[in-house]
Amino acid sequence: MKNYFYLGKREPEYRELLSQSCIRIEDKVIPLSQVVSAEQVHGNQIHICTEADSGAGFGDKAKVAGVDGLITAAKEQYLMIRTADCAPVLMMDKQHRAVAALHSGRDGTRLNIVGKAIDMLKEHFGILPQDLCVWIGACICAQHYQVSAELYEEFVIAMQEQKLYPRLNQGNQIDIRLAVFQQLLRAGVAFRDIDQDMNCTYQDRSYHSYRRDGSKLRQINIVGIEHE
Ligand SMILES: [Zn+2]
Repeated sequence: MKNYFYLGKREPEYRELLSQSCIRIEDKVIPLSQVVSAEQVHGNQIHICTEADSGAGFGDKAKVAGVDGLITAAKEQYLMIRTADCAPVLMMDKQHRAVAALHSGRDGTRLNIVGKAIDMLKEHFGILPQDLCVWIGACICAQHYQVSAELYEEFVIAMQEQKLYPRLNQGNQIDIRLAVFQQLLRAGVAFRDIDQDMNCTYQDRSYHSYRRDGSKLRQINIVGIEHE
C-alpha cells in the first residue's frame, strides 16, 4: 500500500469535474466514482467513509452532508476537499491504515477540526499522532486576512482556550496556518512530520482566492490509500 495525495492549484478546477468522469493530474487518472466529496459547511463534523460513499458529490450522488472532514480506511477511495483561501489539511498514516482530508477555514480552525480528526483516527483505527504525516496546503496568509474586531476576538479566545499562541496584532488579522500548525503540534504530531505549502492563495494568482476575486472556483485537494 502507499498513500497518494495532491494539493491543488488552479487546474484541475472543481466545477469542471462535474461534467467529466475522472480527474486527470499529470499522468494520474482518478475515476470520480472512487472520489468522495464533502458538503463543507464551516463546522467541525467529520465522516468516516465506507466504500458506499464512493462517488459522493458527483453525478446523481449527493456530497456527504453536513461535514467538513472525511476519513477513510478503504483502499482506492480518494477524499476530496475544495478550497479557495481556507486551509486544506491532509493526514496520512505512515502504515497506510487510514487517511483524512479536512477543510479548516476560520470556523473549522476555531473549532479545531484537525484535533478532532486526530482523536477519531486514534479511536477508530488505533492510529497515534506520531504515526501521522500531515500536509497543510496553500491558504490565505494573515496579512491578507483581516476580519472584524468581533470575529478576530472570537478567534483569539478560541485559540487561547486551546492553549495555543495566536498571532496578536492591531489589524484584526487571522493566521489560519499558524493556528492549524499549533493544533497539530498540540495534538502530538511531530514537527518533522508536518509539511506545508507556504503559498498565500490571495497573493499568488496560481491559486483561486475567494477573498481576492469573489471566485466560485476552487482548488481540489485529494488524499487516498492505493495499491503499489
Ligand atoms: Zn497573503
